[in-house]
Amino acid sequence: MNLLKDEWIPVRPLPKGSPAKISLRSLLCGDEKWEVCLPRDDMELATIQLLVCITQTLFIPKTAAELKQRIAGPLYETEYDTAIIPYNDWFQLDHPKYPFMQVRGVTATEVTPMDKLLAGLNSATNSCFVNESGIGAILCSGCASISLFNQATCAPSFGGGFKASLRGSAPITTLIQGMHLRQTIWLNVLSEDHVLSQLPWFKETALQKPTWMDPVKSGDTIPSQRLGLVRGLFWQPAYVELMPSEKASFCDCCGVLTRQSYIGFKKAKFNYVVNGTWPHPHSPRVTSNKKGEIQEKFAAFTTASPSWTQLSRFVVRQQMSDENAVGQQPAAVVLQARQFSSRLHLLIGGYRNNQASILERRHEVFTLNHGWEGNTTAVHYLVQQGLGYRDALYKALYVFSKGIKDIKGAGIKLNQVAEMQFYRRSEPVVQDTLARIDFNDPAPALACMQVSLKSLAKDLFDESIRPYLQDPELIKTMAVARRTLNKHLRNLEPQKDEGGNNGTPVA
Ligand SMILES: [Zn+2]
Repeated sequence: MNLLKDEWIPVRPLPKGSPAKISLRSLLCGDEKWEVCLPRDDMELATIQLLVCITQTLFIPKTAAELKQRIAGPLYETEYDTAIIPYNDWFQLDHPKYPFMQVRGVTATEVTPMDKLLAGLNSATNSCFVNESGIGAILCSGCASISLFNQATCAPSFGGGFKASLRGSAPITTLIQGMHLRQTIWLNVLSEDHVLSQLPWFKETALQKPTWMDPVKSGDTIPSQRLGLVRGLFWQPAYVELMPSEKASFCDCCGVLTRQSYIGFKKAKFNYVVNGTWPHPHSPRVTSNKKGEIQEKFAAFTTASPSWTQLSRFVVRQQMSDENAVGQQPAAVVLQARQFSSRLHLLIGGYRNNQASILERRHEVFTLNHGWEGNTTAVHYLVQQGLGYRDALYKALYVFSKGIKDIKGAGIKLNQVAEMQFYRRSEPVVQDTLARIDFNDPAPALACMQVSLKSLAKDLFDESIRPYLQDPELIKTMAVARRTLNKHLRNLEPQKDEGGNNGTPVA
């Protein structure tokens, strides 16, 4: 199965219709509007990312104008046919010598079941309670390609000494969503100047081949600045070889009847070191100073807090400085999207893991109103305000739970319960503010959000302490906790300056 020629992309027509499989050629050259269609949102995001990576390999628009033309309309079939000529051998899943993202002749004592490629399906001890057995036993060529890519690029390693992806164990991916799939792909393909600003070594490394054509050797040490664009985008950190079956079967992921299916794979680990962080264009990065050493990492979901708490690092660039202990660099595709000056629909996805186990998966779309690119400070401020109200509630209930000096506390971690409630109930407020805010004059919308979050914090405080109202021993604690809440809430009020402007950012 050749990913450049065959019909493997699981789609559904927009606005509605039955699922189908189409080729990359008809996706990029056709007029029809599609969306990706698979039963799992993480596999859908992986499909989009895989399509972006393949398209980025085939085409690097020279200029912003050329990219805008691609976003606006389909390619000519002749353009596509010419572009794929050098890559005929590169993207074939069952290639006799260079199978896509695999190596031939992997030595392994046993065959791993196919469901191990579907991230999270059997990685935790409790998976068997959540998932039916046999849910990923047989995969068609398309789903096998998507899972291979997802496992190597987005998911934790196989564990037991296997290396993680170039972005670490469970990176957050941020992509731009268009009106339909073809547009989404082009919105995430970087034009040459954006590739160069991300990878200044792009031209010297342009002839590098992906790892399945030119395998990484065991024991290699590779400086990240020597890794080319395509090699990095399709980095495979393990030796994997899929085991085909000639028996016609239904794919356990997309449900399609397939003559060429895969029932397992062989895997082997090998050692290598990539020095430094490879600047993957689909992920935000965070820099910090650890005991005098600058560390750069990809953003990840390390706690149960929702995506909006990290939104600032997804869209706002921030240098490390005396005031900012942490630096942040949005994904290159988001930085590029500033030039399109339109509403931003940001696709956010990732796993939260504990080593090789996946604890949860996230998939969200955030909409930022027109003008966001000119006033990212407002986004930063909005997130800080949201976190401020969370902290006010948390600190007040912490006092109530723990007590203070010789005043008795309730002894139950109400602060943690209320924090989760705050996340759940504040999410629509934050999302709605981002989608409606006038970025040229953000103050009114931000003030409105503050009113909502303040009253949410007060409501949650009251709900949390209500069961203890009749407890005479806690009356004093309640009063102290409420004073703490009010003090922190007051600190969050916008400070009016002499001109009557409040402290919210202006465009
Ligand atoms: Zn399938």
